[in-house]
Amino acid sequence: MVVVGGGECGARAAFALREAGWNGPLTLVGAEAVPPYERPPLSKSMMTGPHASAPATICDAEMLRNGGIDFIAGTTATDIDRDNHEVVLAHGRRIAYRRLLVATGATARPLPIPGAAADGVRYLRSHSDALALRDRLRPGARIGVIGGGFIGLELAASATLRGCAVTVVELAPRLMSRGTTPQIAAVVAARHERAGVDVRCGTGVARLERRDGATLLGLTTGETLLCDTVVAGIGAVPETALAHKAGLAVDNGVRVDTRLTTSDPDVFAAGDCCSWPHPLYGGRRIRLESWRNARDQGGAAARNMLGADEPFATVPWFWSDQYDLTLHIAGLPDAATTEVVRRRHDGVEIRFGLGPDGRLLTASAIGTESAAARDIRLAELLIARRATPHPTTLADPTVSLKALLRQEPH
Ligand SMILES: Cc1cc2nc3c(=O)[nH]c(=O)nc-3n(C[C@H](O)[C@H](O)[C@H](O)COP(=O)(O)OP(=O)(O)OC[C@H]3O[C@@H](n4cnc5c(N)ncnc54)[C@H](O)[C@@H]3O)c2cc1C
Repeated sequence: MVVVGGGECGARAAFALREAGWNGPLTLVGAEAVPPYERPPLSKSMMTGPHASAPATICDAEMLRNGGIDFIAGTTATDIDRDNHEVVLAHGRRIAYRRLLVATGATARPLPIPGAAADGVRYLRSHSDALALRDRLRPGARIGVIGGGFIGLELAASATLRGCAVTVVELAPRLMSRGTTPQIAAVVAARHERAGVDVRCGTGVARLERRDGATLLGLTTGETLLCDTVVAGIGAVPETALAHKAGLAVDNGVRVDTRLTTSDPDVFAAGDCCSWPHPLYGGRRIRLESWRNARDQGGAAARNMLGADEPFATVPWFWSDQYDLTLHIAGLPDAATTEVVRRRHDGVEIRFGLGPDGRLLTASAIGTESAAARDIRLAELLIARRATPHPTTLADPTVSLKALLRQEPH
């Protein structure tokens, strides 16, 4: 068994292969030089903590050794020789596989402006990106964040907490237009503004220029912004080069079926790099960039690599921390046609999205710490059971979601 990609998904898959009973050779190939680590802290505690810290490892060298996992770090897999069932590494070594998992993740989308790289635009995907960026978040530093999505906004919050003067430039008319409802986005925008962030929606970046050691951003509104550091958080691109070169089908990520099998039955793909037809959403092909999805798909892919026939139908779930707010989203917000709001007595609002047939498709909430976590977890179970709760009951905070769940057949 060979796993390419030593991130969340690849690392979890390697351990899951052992848990599922694989006793034979097991190799994990990772392009990064360090053992697998968690990315979510990179934009949060890594930025706001008192000192630059080591990566939050998923497993260290000893755990890998104890798991009998041959971890080849700092090495890129460059080819899949499907005829001979071998993975080719950058330095020419070949590793034979019976089953292969591609868990190559995603990379930060480069800013499509000529000269952006030369003008010192930074990205945040890896621990080394985070270390370099952290150094620049000095009190009073002018930080320009291009992109008002999750990563850009988490970074904006962290930079503000470090005393920087932050401007967020977002092309769309509102923040987080991919993946949240307008109401949630409005709460987030207000929180950033309250913290002193200059949030500019409906504004693009037309040009970049180096000027006296700083970067001048020319905005589409005609205004200019002088920044000490510019960070682009304009999304991520699935890392499909290896799969593409090997002739595997690619369709917004490595194309897999519900069993996470690629167009080659001995090659699987999972995590940020793959798209799959989600059974709960009418087989709609989706690709998620979400920590839990990467972890769960790694496990499911591992079991399927060993012959299980397990469709991957887990309810999508995502969280984001900004200041004292935590946002939870279960399901796919853009699949819903009707919104129902449950206003709890403690002030927390849970926003449910129903489909045209009344089925619960999504739930989201924003609040301090984990105030809404339990309700979102129950909503997830309702979504998984394809529940069609009555909107009035759903909106009524005196009816517990647990009670609604009990009414649903398994
Ligand atoms: C700053 C940041 C904050 C985030 N915060 C959250 C959050 O709050 N909540 C949430 O749900 N999600 C969050 N995420 C998303 C989450 O971290 C990802 O969904 C998850 O890391 C995906 O795991 P993965 O293993 O699929 O891909 P990755 O983590 O990208 O790992 C892929 C690995 O494969 C390696 N690789 C690529 N190509 C090759 C090759 N050819 N050969 C060998 N190795 C290769 C890469 O170098 C990388 O190490 C965040 C992501 C970032 C970057």
